[in-house]
Amino acid sequence: MKVSSYHSSNNSDPDVYHDHDNCPTGQQIPSYNKLSGTGSFPRCKQCIDKG
Ligand SMILES: [Zn+2]
Repeated sequence: MKVSSYHSSNNSDPDVYHDHDNCPTGQQIPSYNKLSGTGSFPRCKQCIDKG
């Protein structure tokens, strides 16, 4: 489902933000690396596909 924007603080993760909690890439971000907001990154393609 759609959630508030979030992104990873880990530099080795893709520089994108997510807004779906069932995004496969977003789900790989551990909670301690998860930051709210877009981080000024473009939106994740998989999240775009989810609508
Ligand atoms: Zn995503």
